[in-house]
Amino acid sequence: MKRVDVKTNFNCNNQCRFCVQGNKRELYPPKTTKEVKEILRQSRRTHEAVVFTGGEVTIREDIIELVKFARLLDYRLIQIQSNGRMFCYEKFCDEIIAAGANQFSPALHGHIPALHDFLTRSKGSFLQTLTGIRNLKKRKQDVIVNCVVTKPNYRNLPDIARLLVHCKVNQYQFAFVHAGGRAGENFDAIVPRKSLAVPFIKKGLDIGIKAGIKVMAEAIPFCLMQGYEDYIAEKYIPSTKIYDAESVVDDFAQVRKNEGKAKGPLCKKCSCFNICEGPWKEYPQKFGWDEFVAIKE
Ligand code: SF4
Repeated sequence: MKRVDVKTNFNCNNQCRFCVQGNKRELYPPKTTKEVKEILRQSRRTHEAVVFTGGEVTIREDIIELVKFARLLDYRLIQIQSNGRMFCYEKFCDEIIAAGANQFSPALHGHIPALHDFLTRSKGSFLQTLTGIRNLKKRKQDVIVNCVVTKPNYRNLPDIARLLVHCKVNQYQFAFVHAGGRAGENFDAIVPRKSLAVPFIKKGLDIGIKAGIKVMAEAIPFCLMQGYEDYIAEKYIPSTKIYDAESVVDDFAQVRKNEGKAKGPLCKKCSCFNICEGPWKEYPQKFGWDEFVAIKE
């Protein structure tokens, strides 16, 4: 199903230390209701799935109206990508579900308040997001949780996985931090070595696999994911058009592969060269290519 991601606004009620959107919230005002509706109308000619994303879309006053409009246009999938905090309000959950949202992607980055709130720099965010996930599951919604892998949380990924299994989420994903925006500014404090994080990522995946939950890992190349190739997210990400702050990207996969990610000098010798996207380019710019060892046939 072809998907369009609409970045409706960059303001947010969290202040994540790793936010790849950086200071866009200061640079770009939210798109107007009219602008978003026009994007939805145009995109429906070619796309069947829409993801409302930002910034934080649930703090828009018109979010219910926009979801209703997407429903009216008969989008088959209407996903709300969110930090999950607003879902702690039961009335809001009921309203956005009734409006037509049918998939939710909240973000949880810790298993305890001290860790999650430290990363989001927003006291109380853990409790709100966790309550939000539970509220959505109580309403039998399709919940795909995103967890950004960072230096402060990578050792706790198995704990986070256990919590998400306990919440009975439909899917969770460990996305290795993309060192752009604030993550780039805070590189030393935020970006771990992949070789240190990967054993914890694999343990975290195992917990979901054993529980029968769909799990994924993003931005970890094949050479570090041997034995877990089926869980490499890039293999499954659908073709996505993105309406960003000022630009429109027709196929994000191409931008990701050609501009966002990189391959190293030895990658050409790797049997996965053609299917691997490599890491986000900022990572080897800082750490080099030692951890990425070409896979032999
Ligand atoms: S192409 Fe490079 S980054 Fe990708 S799996 Fe092979 S060695 Fe690793």
